[in-house]
Order: sequence, then C-alpha cells, then structure tokens
Amino acid sequence: MGDVISTISTAISLASRLRKISENIKDAEFKNLLADLGLELAEAKMNLAALLEENADLKTELKALKNAEGDPCPRCHKHGWHLEGSRPDKLFGDLGGMRRIYRCSSCDFTEEQLITPEQTSRRERMRIPLF
Ligand SMILES: [Zn+2]
Repeated sequence: MGDVISTISTAISLASRLRKISENIKDAEFKNLLADLGLELAEAKMNLAALLEENADLKTELKALKNAEGDPCPRCHKHGWHLEGSRPDKLFGDLGGMRRIYRCSSCDFTEEQLITPEQTSRRERMRIPLF
C-alpha cells in the first residue's frame, strides 16, 4: 500500500516538471489544466494517507477481535478455537451422531469431535438455568 503513495509522489513530481517545461508554452489552458492536475494529485495523496491510516487501525482492531473471540486452542493456547462446521458422522450418523470440526484461527490446527445425541441432550440440560 505504501507503493501507492510513492506512485502518487512520482506523479506529482512529473506534474511539476511539466509545469517547468510549460513556462515556455504560452497556452493558458494548458497551464491551467496542469495546475488543476497538480492540485488533484496532492488531494489524492492526502486522502490516500488518511485511508492507509484508517486501514492500519482497522487491521489492528480486527486482529484484537480475532484474538479475543473463541476458546483457547489446545495447541498454541491462543484464543480463536472455534467450531467451523458439523456433519453427520460416517458411522453413527444414522443414530444421530454428529462430527464437529474445530479450527484455530491462529495456528490452523483442526480437530474433529464426535457428538452423540446423548451428549447433545446432556449439554443442553446443563445449559438450563437452575432458577
Ligand atoms: Zn492454535
């Protein structure tokens, strides 16, 4: 992204070189257009710098959010251990057995877990508040 700034800086210096060359040219319209071009490029550079700053802030925020969500990973212990999907188990699918796929968003470690209907209902019972 920093390359874009240097590209615009190059364009700005090209425009100012053109302005110097244009001193020998009497055409007023050409000179006005060249001045406009210089202003537009300067504005583009300022907007881009603001955009780059915002982008960096958003990246930092996103990284913090990613790290904050999920349980700790069994391998790297960073937060980001999450359920990625589930499908009926090949063997126990007919009996209601589900295979859950967990993945760590930090180190990409994955693990599968077989969930039986009994486990599911026990988990659901445990979630019911006592009052
Ligand atoms: Zn991990």
